[in-house]
Amino acid sequence: MVLAQLGGSISRAIQQMSNATIIDEKVLNECLNEITRALLQSDVQFKLVRDMQTNIKKIVNLDDLAAGHNKRKIIQQAIFNELCKILDPGKPSFTPKKGKTSVVMFVGLQGSGKTTTCTKYAYYHQKKGWKPALVCADTFRAGAFDQLKQNATKAKIPFYGSYMESDPVKIAVEGVERFKKENCDLIIVDTSGRHKQEAALFEEMRQVSEATKPDLVIFVMDSSIGQAAFDQAQAFKQSVAVGAVIVTKMDGHAKGGGALSAVAATKSPVIFIGTGEHMDEFEVFDVKPFVSRLLGMGDWSGFMDKIHEVVPMDQQPELLQKLSEGNFTLRIMYEQFQNILKMGPIGQVFSMLPGFSAELMPKGREKESQAKIKRYMTMMDSMTNEELDSSNPKLMNESRMMRIARGSGRHIREVMEMLEEYKRLAKIWSKMKGLKIPKKGEMSALSRNMNA
Ligand code: GDP
Repeated sequence: MVLAQLGGSISRAIQQMSNATIIDEKVLNECLNEITRALLQSDVQFKLVRDMQTNIKKIVNLDDLAAGHNKRKIIQQAIFNELCKILDPGKPSFTPKKGKTSVVMFVGLQGSGKTTTCTKYAYYHQKKGWKPALVCADTFRAGAFDQLKQNATKAKIPFYGSYMESDPVKIAVEGVERFKKENCDLIIVDTSGRHKQEAALFEEMRQVSEATKPDLVIFVMDSSIGQAAFDQAQAFKQSVAVGAVIVTKMDGHAKGGGALSAVAATKSPVIFIGTGEHMDEFEVFDVKPFVSRLLGMGDWSGFMDKIHEVVPMDQQPELLQKLSEGNFTLRIMYEQFQNILKMGPIGQVFSMLPGFSAELMPKGREKESQAKIKRYMTMMDSMTNEELDSSNPKLMNESRMMRIARGSGRHIREVMEMLEEYKRLAKIWSKMKGLKIPKKGEMSALSRNMNA
C-alpha cells in the first residue's frame, strides 16, 4: 500500500469511528481492525501490529472512561502515539554541522537508489547553505562515475572520481583529501553496491570506512523489500557502523510502512525518505510530523520549512504576512494556484497542510490536478474584484454563481465545487491567524503552537 493510501485508510477508519453516535467496544474494534488491515497490507510486521492493537485497548479502557471524557480524542491520541512508537528507533542520528567538515559515507545494495540519494542529500544541504562535494568510490559498477558526474553537474556540486583507478579506497581517500583542502563542509562518499549482501561488498565497505573515517555512515535501502528491511539493515549494521538510514522509492511501493517500521526495529534512525526520481523528491523524515501527515493532521513545522525552501525569497514575507492575517480570499487562492502552476515544487508546500494534497494534488495524478487548478482559475477569471477580495462566504449567492458559470463556460456545479475547495482551504488557512512569523530555526516552537 503506497503511503498516501495507507494514511487514507487509517484516517478514514478514525473518521468513521468519530462519526459513530456512541463509541463502544464494537466501534473501537472495527476501527482498530481497519487500521490493522491497512498496516498489514503495507507489510508491517504482524507482531508490531498486534502489540499496537493490544496497547491501544489497554490505554482506551472504555468501561473505565467516565462519561464526559472525550473518547474520540483519547483514541485518536493513542493511535497517534502507538504509530509513532512503531516508527521510533529510540535514538537520534548524528547530524553534520554546517561550517565544520564532515565526511558522510553512503552504503547499500546496487539498485537501492544509493547514487541518486547521494546527490539528493548533497543538493538538499546545498540549498540550505552548505558546501557539499561528491566522491565516487564505486569502481564496481560500470557507469557509476558517469551517473554521479551527471547528477552532480546538474546540481552544480563539485565531484571527484576516476575512470582509470580501480581501487575504491584510493579514490575515496584522494577525494576526501581534495575536498577538505577546498573547505567543503559535507564530503559525501558513494561506495559500490553489489546485487547480494556478500563478503566482498562488506569487506570493501570496511576498507573505505577505515581509510576515510566517516563521521556518519548512511545505509540506503529500497522500500519495496518491506519488513525484509530488518535483516538487510542488521547485516549492514554488523559490518560497518551505520548511523542513519535513508529509505528510497516511497512513492511507488506498497510496502513502505513495513520498511520504515522494520528499520526502526533495528534501532537505526531513518533520516530522509526518497519519494521520486527527481532531485527534490526527498523529504526529511521525522516521526511525529510524519505520522501527523499520515493521519491527515497536517505537518506545520514541515510546512514552514518548505515555505523557506521553495518559495522565492522575495515572495516569502508577503505570503507569511497573508498567512498570519489568516484571511484567505479567493484572490490569495488564485495567486497560490498561479505559483503551483509556475513553479511546481510549491505544490509541496501545500502538501504539508492537512487535507490539501490528498484532495487537490494527489501524487501520480499531477496532470489531472493541474487541469483542475486551471479550470478553477478560469472560473475565478470571471469574478469581480469584490468577489475575489471578499472573505465573506455569504457573498457568493446563486445569481453570482450563475454569472461566473456563464462567463467561464462551465457548469454551475463546477463553480460550487470550486467554492467548496476554497472554503476548505480557508478553514485550514484560518488556523494560521495570529501566526508569529518565524525566522529559520524557529520552526519547532511554531509547530508546537499549531498542533496544540
Ligand atoms: P544505486 O545502484 O543504488 O546507486 O541506484 P541508483 O541511484 O542508480 O538508482 C536506481 C534507480 O532507482 C534509478 O532509476 C533511480 O532513478 C531510481 N530511484 C532512486 N531513488 C528513487 C525514489 O525515491 N523513487 C523512485 N521512484 N525511484 C528512485
